[in-house]
Amino acid sequence: QKKEWAKLKNEPSVSKDGSHVELAANIGTPDDLEGVHGNGAEGVGLYRTEFLYMGRESLPSEEEQFKAYKKVVESLNGGPVVIRTLDIGGDKELSYLDLPDEMNPFLGFRAIRLCLEMDDMFRTQLRALLRASAFGNLKIMFPMIATLEEFRQAKAILEEEKQKLQSEGTEVSTELEVGIMVEIPSTAVMAPQFAKEVDFFSIGTNDLIQYTMAADRMNERVSYLYQPYNPAILNLVKMVIDASHKEGKWTGMCGEMAGDEIAIPLLFGLGLDEFSMSATSVLPARSQLLKLDKKDAQAVAEKALTLNTSDEVKTLVENKFL
Ligand code: PEP
Ligand code: MG
Repeated sequence: QKKEWAKLKNEPSVSKDGSHVELAANIGTPDDLEGVHGNGAEGVGLYRTEFLYMGRESLPSEEEQFKAYKKVVESLNGGPVVIRTLDIGGDKELSYLDLPDEMNPFLGFRAIRLCLEMDDMFRTQLRALLRASAFGNLKIMFPMIATLEEFRQAKAILEEEKQKLQSEGTEVSTELEVGIMVEIPSTAVMAPQFAKEVDFFSIGTNDLIQYTMAADRMNERVSYLYQPYNPAILNLVKMVIDASHKEGKWTGMCGEMAGDEIAIPLLFGLGLDEFSMSATSVLPARSQLLKLDKKDAQAVAEKALTLNTSDEVKTLVENKFL
C-alpha cells in the first residue's frame, strides 16, 4: 500500500469521475514543510502559529514572524497557505503572558478573544502576515470566531495595519483572502450571514465536536461522546458548506476529521472544497479519493444526514465504501 501511495505524490487529487478537491497539510512550524512536500500536499490548510510563541520567554518580534511566514509561503511556490492567527489559551499556555487561571479554559479567554483585547500583540502578528503576503499565496484565518462582531473587529484591525503598511510603501498582496475557523456551533448556525463577509471557512472539527457535544476533547471519561460522524456534526458541516457555496466562497476543514477514512466520502459528498490534515494522511486520502464517485458519495452523505446515530453513519459508510 505504501508503494501505491508513493506513486500518487505528484498526481492531482481527483475522484473517479474527475471532481477535484484540494488536499492540504497542517503544519506547526516551517520545519514541517519537508513533510508537506514529501507527501505531495497541494497547500497548507492550517499553519498553527502558536508554536512561534511557545517555549520561550517573550513574544516573537514582527521580524521573526515575518521570516517564518515568508519562508512557508515561498516554499509552497504559489500553492495556498492558510495561516491562523494566534490561538492561545485552552490547552495551550504562554507563561510570559501571565494570564489568570480559569475554571473552564476551553470556554474562556483564548484565541481571538485574547487577541482583540491584547491589541498590540495582535497587530504585530498581522503586520508580519501582511508583509509576508507579498511573497506568495497567503490567506489569513481567525480562530474561535463566535460572533460576526468579532470577525468585523478583527478584519478592521487588519485593514488598519494594511493601510499603515501601504502608506509606508510596504508591499502587501492585493489578493489576500481573509477567512475564519468554524469551530463554535453559533458560527456554524450563522454561516449564511458570515458567508457574506468572509472569503472562506475552515471547519475546525477538533473543537466543533467538543463544543457541539459538550465533551472535552482531552477527557477520556467522555471520549465516547466525541463523535465526528454524529449526524448533528454532519448537519452543521453541511450548513457551512452550503452557505459558503451560495455566496461563491469555499469551505475547507482542518480538524482531524478531514483525514479520516470514514469521514472522507461523507465530506466529499457534502461538497467540501479543501481537506487539510496531517501530512502523512495526504497520500492515503488521495488514494481513497481516486476510487470515489461523486454521485455515490453525495447519495451516501444525503442518507447519513438523516440517520439517528454515529454508529449508523459509520456502518453505512463501511458497507458502501470500505
Ligand atoms: C480544530 O479545532 O479543529 C483545529 C484544527 O484547531 P486546534 O486543533 O489547533 O484547536
Ligand atoms: Mg481549534
